[in-house]
Amino acid sequence: MADKYQQFTTTPLGKFVTAKLGLPTPPVLRRYRPGQPPLDGPALVGAAPGGRLEKALTAQLTSADIDVVRAPADDTRYGALVFDATGIIDPAQLRELYDFFHSMIRDIAPSGRVVVLGTPPELAEGRERIAQRALEGFTRTMGKELKRGATSQLVYVADGAEDAAESTMRFLLSAKSAFVDGQVIRVGAAGTKTAQPPADWAQPLHGKVALVTGASRGIGAAIAEVLARDGAHVVALDIPAQGGDLSAVANRVRGTALQLDITAPDAPQRLADHLTQRHGGVDIVVHNAGITRDKTLAKMSEAAWDAVLTVNLAAQLAVNDALLAGGVLRENGRIIGVSSIAGIAGNVGQANYAASKAGVIGMIDEAAPRMAERGGTINAVAPGFIETQMTAKVPLMIREFGRRLSSLAQGGLPVDVAETIAWFANPASSAVNGNVVRVCGQGFLGA
Ligand code: NAD
Repeated sequence: MADKYQQFTTTPLGKFVTAKLGLPTPPVLRRYRPGQPPLDGPALVGAAPGGRLEKALTAQLTSADIDVVRAPADDTRYGALVFDATGIIDPAQLRELYDFFHSMIRDIAPSGRVVVLGTPPELAEGRERIAQRALEGFTRTMGKELKRGATSQLVYVADGAEDAAESTMRFLLSAKSAFVDGQVIRVGAAGTKTAQPPADWAQPLHGKVALVTGASRGIGAAIAEVLARDGAHVVALDIPAQGGDLSAVANRVRGTALQLDITAPDAPQRLADHLTQRHGGVDIVVHNAGITRDKTLAKMSEAAWDAVLTVNLAAQLAVNDALLAGGVLRENGRIIGVSSIAGIAGNVGQANYAASKAGVIGMIDEAAPRMAERGGTINAVAPGFIETQMTAKVPLMIREFGRRLSSLAQGGLPVDVAETIAWFANPASSAVNGNVVRVCGQGFLGA
C-alpha cells in the first residue's frame, strides 16, 4: 500500500534522479498531531473594500490561536493567505485578487493554505453574481500552481452565516485538510442558529454517538478512530465475516462493534432497534461501507451490478428512512455519505460503482432541505485515490496514474477522508449542509 516512489524521492539518490529527469517530487504533507499549532506561520488576512466577513473571520482565527496579520512583512513565510472577496460586486473588482495574491503567493509556507471567501453566486444578482462565480476559476488555479503541499479553497458564505463559518475555517486552515485541495464549499444561512462552538474544540463530539459502517478496515477504521479522538462513542459496523478486525477497531477506539450486513432486508430495523435500545439514538451516521465489482458494462454480470448498487446506495437509503422515520437520528443529527470521484467523472470498468456513487450525491441533494428542517445536515466526501486495500488491488500503472495525476502528486491517506468527515460531524458545522467535498489532492480526473 505504501507509495514507494514517494519514499524514493526523499532519499539522496531519489532527489538526484528526480532532479536530473524532471520527475514529479510529491511533497510530504503536514498532517494533524494533537497540540500542534494550526498553522506553520501567521495568516495574512486581506479583504476587498466592503467585505462583510473580515470581523467574524478575525475573531474566528484568533480564537483558533492563529496569528493574524494585516500587512505583509519582509522575510515572513505565511501559514495562510486568507482573502475576504465578498466585497467584490462587479467583475472589474476582481483585480483585488491579483493585487492581494500576486506578490504574496511565493511567501506561503510548505503545506500552507490559501482560502478565498465569497458570496454564493446563486444568492447574488446581476454583476455580483458573475464576479462571485469567477472566484472559482481563480482558487482552483491557485491549487494547481501552489507547490510543496500548499492548498487552495473557496468558501462561499451566505449572508447571515458569517458567524457559522468557524468550524470550516478551522478545518481548512489546519493540517486536518492536508489532502483537500481546489474545493468549493458552501456555508449556508440555514442551520446558523444551531451552529454553536463546542465547549472544547479538541473534543467537539463529546457525548455524541456515531455509527460508522464498513469500520473494520481502511477508510472506515480511520473514521472510527478520528471520531473517537474527537470524543464520540463509535458504533463500528461491518459484515460478520470481518468480525475479528471489527472487534479490534471497536476495542481500539473504546466503542462497540455491531456485526451486520447492511443489505439484509431486516438490517435497517435491527440497526434502529440497536441504536435506540443501547444508546438512546444516534447523532452521526457515516455511510462508509462500499464495494467494487469492476468490469466494462458489456462484460458485467447482473450480480455485479446489483451487488454494488445495493451496498453503495439502496441499503443506505433504507437505513436513512428507518433512522429518520423513527426519530432515531437525534436533533442536530448528521448523515455523511462517502461518494467517489468516479461518481463525479465516471470511470472505465465502473459503470455500477460510478452510478452508485453519483447516486450518493443525489442522496445529499435530495435530503439536504429535509435535514435542515430538522436542524441537521447531510453532506458527502468524494475521495480520490486513497491508499487502502481497495486501491492496492488496482493494477500498478493505473495506480501510479491515480497517485500522480493530482496537484499534490500522491495518494491520500484514510485519515484525510476521516478528518473531512469529522468536520461535517462537528456540532458547529450546522450551516454546512448539502456539500460534496472531494478529498483528492485536486485530482485531475473530473476536476
Ligand atoms: P474497503 O474495502 O477497505 O472497506 C470497505 C468496508 O465495507 C469493508 O470492511 C467491508 O467489509 C465493508 N462492507 C462491505 N459490504 C458491506 C455490507 N453489506 N454491510 C456492512 N459492511 C460492508 O474499502 P475502502 O477503500 O476503505 O473504502 C471505504 C469507502 O470509501 C467505500 O465506500 C469506497 O467506495 C469509498 N472510496 C474509496 C476510495 C479509495 O481510494 N480507497 C476512493 C473513493 C471512494
